[in-house]
Amino acid sequence: MNIAFWQVLEKYKPSQQLSKKEIVLLLNANVGSESQALFALADQVRQQYHGPAVHLRGIIEFSNYCKNDCCYCGLRCSNQNIERYRLLASEVVAAAHQVIMMGFNTIVLQSGEDPWYDAATICEILLQIKRDSNVAITLSIGERTKEEYRLMYQAGADRFLLKHETADQQLFNKLRPGTSFEKRLICLQSLRAVGFQVGSGNMVGLPGQTVATLAADILLLKQLDVEMAGIGPFIPHPQTPLAQVPPGDLQLTLKTLAVARLALPLAHLPATTAAATLHPQGRQMALACGANVIMPNVTPLKFRKLYQIYPGKAGSTENPLESLNKTRDLIRVTGREIATGRGDSLKKYFR
Ligand code: SAM
Ligand code: SF4
Repeated sequence: MNIAFWQVLEKYKPSQQLSKKEIVLLLNANVGSESQALFALADQVRQQYHGPAVHLRGIIEFSNYCKNDCCYCGLRCSNQNIERYRLLASEVVAAAHQVIMMGFNTIVLQSGEDPWYDAATICEILLQIKRDSNVAITLSIGERTKEEYRLMYQAGADRFLLKHETADQQLFNKLRPGTSFEKRLICLQSLRAVGFQVGSGNMVGLPGQTVATLAADILLLKQLDVEMAGIGPFIPHPQTPLAQVPPGDLQLTLKTLAVARLALPLAHLPATTAAATLHPQGRQMALACGANVIMPNVTPLKFRKLYQIYPGKAGSTENPLESLNKTRDLIRVTGREIATGRGDSLKKYFR
């Protein structure tokens, strides 16, 4: 029996920070009773702070153009084997209105890093969506200047998702040529400074990553004091340099998610599409070990097959309503309920 593991679980308190050593011990939980106990505790903490509600964030993938060349992503600019698309600003607004009509309280606007949408265009989209709705808007469009982030925040964006991808600085710089870990952190600090609710996160299963790296990921998320953390498995894409790397391990992903829940009791943690892509029950499993958010894909059907960051992406053949209905069914089956509010930061209630 791994006594040290059980001691960490027993003395866990949401108000006390876990050390790197403790996080590593938890991430090394065996597949039997240790993982079960870890998942049960994460589920309990999720229930204590977030209750049974699952927040739905409808994600619109509005452009698959990208100027970057990330070694893990199918949208990388070197991939010639992909049909590129862009929604006009008016099409993004129309898609957003449809999503609002479907009852979503949060819309996530995501794209490759596509400078075709300058700050003025993004702001115009935000202003138009916000003109007659109080829907929360999350942007996930990559790195911009602090001034651009400020303009977008002022135009009505509430949240920004920019994953740190890996806390291993060398690995980050290697996997994201032309960008740097240092700049990523500066962007995350800028987002915080201009007022955004900040989301970050990492992939599990990148080549060269260790359990210690995952512990560093969790500690970085804690240090950034994120409102949201997206933690999902890496899935290889055939048209990338990482084509031959095996996918991230689902169990390790779930353990990372569960430990993130212990370390960040207030954060919103999605049950990711990547987990659902690895395993048909991936989202349900994630909901049972700390997750409290699902991001159904509400991209118009004709585009979503083209937003292939990795192959076999769950939901690629559904239309927005089918994706929503499937998500509703899934939540019902797990005995949870759909949240009615926007799912803003919980910090104001607990600090
Ligand atoms: N371009 C923006 C950015 O990089 O922040 C947003 C879009 S990007 C496609 C969104 C996320 O997809 C990234 O943060 C990354 O974690 C994830 N992603 C990319 N390739 C992936 C892969 N092969 N497996 C799993 N997740 C991947
Ligand atoms: Fe572009 Fe984002 Fe993919 Fe990197 S992860 S290639 S920035 S879409």
